[in-house]
Amino acid sequence: MTTYVHDIGGAPVIIGAGLAGLMTALHLAPEPVILLSRTPLGTDASSTLAQGGLAASLGEDDSPDLHLADTLAAGDGLCNEQMARRVVEVAPQAIQSLVRLGAPFDRALDGKLRLGLEAAHSRRRIVHAADATGHQLFHALLAVARRTRSITIMEDVTALRLVVAEGSIVGLLAVLHNSVFAMPTRRVVLATGGIGGLFRDTTNPLSSFGHGLALAACAGAELSDLEFVQFHPTALDSPRRPMPLISEMVRGEGAVLVDEHGDRFLTDTPGAELASGDVVARSIAHYLAAGHRVYLDARQCLGKKFAKRFPAIEAACRQAGIDPAVEPIPVRPAAHYHMGGVAVDADGRSSVGGLWACGEVACTGLHGANRLASNSLAEAVATSAWVAASVAGTCAGRQWPRLPATVPVRPDPSPMGQIVSNALGIVRNGKVLRETIGTLLPIAVGETAAADPALVSLLIAIAALRREESRGSHYRSDFPGRDAAALPSRLTLCTAFENAVALRWQKSERSR
Ligand SMILES: Cc1cc2nc3c(=O)[nH]c(=O)nc-3n(C[C@H](O)[C@H](O)[C@H](O)COP(=O)(O)OP(=O)(O)OC[C@H]3O[C@@H](n4cnc5c(N)ncnc54)[C@H](O)[C@@H]3O)c2cc1C
Repeated sequence: MTTYVHDIGGAPVIIGAGLAGLMTALHLAPEPVILLSRTPLGTDASSTLAQGGLAASLGEDDSPDLHLADTLAAGDGLCNEQMARRVVEVAPQAIQSLVRLGAPFDRALDGKLRLGLEAAHSRRRIVHAADATGHQLFHALLAVARRTRSITIMEDVTALRLVVAEGSIVGLLAVLHNSVFAMPTRRVVLATGGIGGLFRDTTNPLSSFGHGLALAACAGAELSDLEFVQFHPTALDSPRRPMPLISEMVRGEGAVLVDEHGDRFLTDTPGAELASGDVVARSIAHYLAAGHRVYLDARQCLGKKFAKRFPAIEAACRQAGIDPAVEPIPVRPAAHYHMGGVAVDADGRSSVGGLWACGEVACTGLHGANRLASNSLAEAVATSAWVAASVAGTCAGRQWPRLPATVPVRPDPSPMGQIVSNALGIVRNGKVLRETIGTLLPIAVGETAAADPALVSLLIAIAALRREESRGSHYRSDFPGRDAAALPSRLTLCTAFENAVALRWQKSERSR
């Protein structure tokens, strides 16, 4: 392996070019910034796949207080209320800033933004661009980023390790094709997205395995709430991966969940089809495990209007040979969103000097034990401004990093699918988690392409084992009840040995 040093003049580096990375880079302008993307832009970012939209209290019958109440209810007691309040209060302004950047959101005849309804929202507050919000938004922002001279975009570059000296970032190691190089910088923003790619059934790009979590863990950063993985109740049940999503908005329009006989099975559940996502996902998983098939039936509420209202979803159904206007859509839950992540403060700073995190890889505490639908893009947009201000206000400096003796190979998460889906799916239990930790440990401390994905899976499994209760998206069949005294969790990877990892585990002191 040859490693050369790529001098970037100490500019900050953003790892990841989804919505969080793009917005952070745009907010940093005119400060020079390097934006890294593992693939050609937009080809493996969850941001481009978002259908529903962004939650903001813009309606006349709505307010930040109501949005906050819904967010806290979904978070099931573990949200950081201060952070949640801050995000919902700025969300309406964040939407206006996106409009100014060219976001083509849908408007009503009177010119006002059209607001959709999603599960567990008490008001219509989802700003969207038909059912391809992420795609439209991403490409509008990308066009602005490409015109912004202070942003240097580097595609096909994968960050492999952060280099730390005396508890602070001094650079990173990355690979372009087969060339490994070092970038000296004292400011790195992780914007690497989620972890769905660790699971067999996922709506995320298959490469989204939480690489940012592995980078942060190996740099000694604190990680928080890792056990909380949200499963979307209604992914299209076809062989296609990632699984196309049948957005909550379809249920918001009145579509109902039925079994193979056409019978609804959620009528006794408070909220029925619009109950919180984890309740709906668990009910569907339970029904599937009992040998039923589950369908989303939009024939009555939308029928022929389906294609006009949800063109991208209709196209995905058609590809699978289904016409949603006249047939029910087969659905099953799929790993969708990670509430846990790199523990950050109000400015997006991690516990390691010079390391920030933004977007899905970060854990701000907004989501607690479960995310309220469409709060994640709103969070990425809101927090990117705070992260950028904090990065810009930090002294740059430059120190040539002492390079590590070995460089990890480019990771491959594919061996994780079976292991992770069995142990860390919708229903978990201690016995399987313990066995899985034993399976993952040697892979995580090894040197194969599966090492980093296994490390992320291992840390999630440990967090899931330690949470001996059921709450939000985390359900333990051996601990089905709720522990009234439970707190958010935090862990730090201290050292990885040949057959063990040393962790610092602490109950979080962050406000709830
Ligand atoms: C199908 C689907 C629908 C969704 N719908 C909604 C919705 O309607 N509303 C909502 O609020 N949320 C939605 N979400 C969630 C939301 O889209 C994501 O949480 C959000 O887009 C994450 O943005 P991000 O910028 O953090 O990460 P991403 O958009 O996933 O971008 C991650 C970037 O990091 C790069 N990367 C990763 N590792 C490395 C590395 N080591 N080196 C270099 N680059 C790296 C990738 O190449 C990519 O560019 C949806 C998610 C999915 C999958």
